[in-house]
Amino acid sequence: KEELNIIQGALELRTKTVEDVMTPLSNCFMIHIDAVLDFNTMSEIMESGYTRIPVYDSERSNIVDVLYVKDLAFVDPDDCTTLKTVTKFYNHPVHFVFHDTKLDAMLEEFKKGKSHLAIVQKVNNEGEGDPFYEVLGLVTLEDVIEEIIKSEILDE
Ligand code: ADP
Repeated sequence: KEELNIIQGALELRTKTVEDVMTPLSNCFMIHIDAVLDFNTMSEIMESGYTRIPVYDSERSNIVDVLYVKDLAFVDPDDCTTLKTVTKFYNHPVHFVFHDTKLDAMLEEFKKGKSHLAIVQKVNNEGEGDPFYEVLGLVTLEDVIEEIIKSEILDE
């Protein structure tokens, strides 16, 4: 029965999109680019439990960087280092994908290994103004795998 589930999940990778399985922007734990890495901010990051944290500027839909929690290994909270200093140093690329990307294509992207987290965006051409890129959320390898095995992976 479990095998059947997995086969079905695998077949659905061709029809389901990243938008179907992503974590919506409103639920994303993110950090403002101007944050100072003092004790409070570092505690919040640690308590969130996430390993990768999108960094935004001005509004939450404007994602400019990704902070990896391991980037904080050499940061002393007493130094009140700015987040900018850290992100500039590591300079991780931000990986964007379109909302209608199918999960099989997404899995292939993730397998290439640059990053196992991608920011989901779409071209918004509703309304009067010019079309613009709208960020909808984030998707990780884990979201795709869960779709295959059809059950939640509980975090450590
Ligand atoms: P982590 O390694 O941080 O636990 P995973 O890649 O294992 O992240 O993903 C676990 C779940 O958490 C997925 O559903 C993913 O969409 C979500 N997720 C990952 N990072 C964040 C974040 N910064 N804010 C909110 N949800 C996140």
